[in-house]
Amino acid sequence: MADVLRYDKDCIFCKIIKGEIPSTKVYEDENCYAFRDINPQAPVHILVVPKTHIASCADIDAENAHIAGEIFTAIAFIARQEGLDGGYRVITNCGEDAGQTVHHLHFHILAGVKMGERLL
Ligand code: AMP
Ligand code: ZN
Repeated sequence: MADVLRYDKDCIFCKIIKGEIPSTKVYEDENCYAFRDINPQAPVHILVVPKTHIASCADIDAENAHIAGEIFTAIAFIARQEGLDGGYRVITNCGEDAGQTVHHLHFHILAGVKMGERLL
């Protein structure tokens, strides 16, 4: 669904999406952009973001919920593209206690290592 894309001039991920800050692109479509995390926490660490500025998953509502589906469709495509046959973990940090540092909704894809069963 083609919404008007929202751009926040103070947002580093909005700048990455626009190409104003360089990134290592992994995937792009009309709604989503994916790039390699600058500080990888696993052998494969990719960030998937909506092209429109949404601060976090706390701002998902009935109007924009389609974005969540678009992102997870992109995640499944990226996992196949990157050959993540052994599995992967998807994480989104929401708010201060979760340690969210960039306030543009993003999903971490982590892979390439056997992860523990515990999340914390
Ligand atoms: P979070 O802590 O969930 O907000 O995650 C933010 C992520 O963005 C961290 O894993 C950072 O390493 C990553 N990050 C910050 N700046 C950049 C950048 N310019 N390019 C790629 N990844 C970045
Ligand atoms: Zn943004």
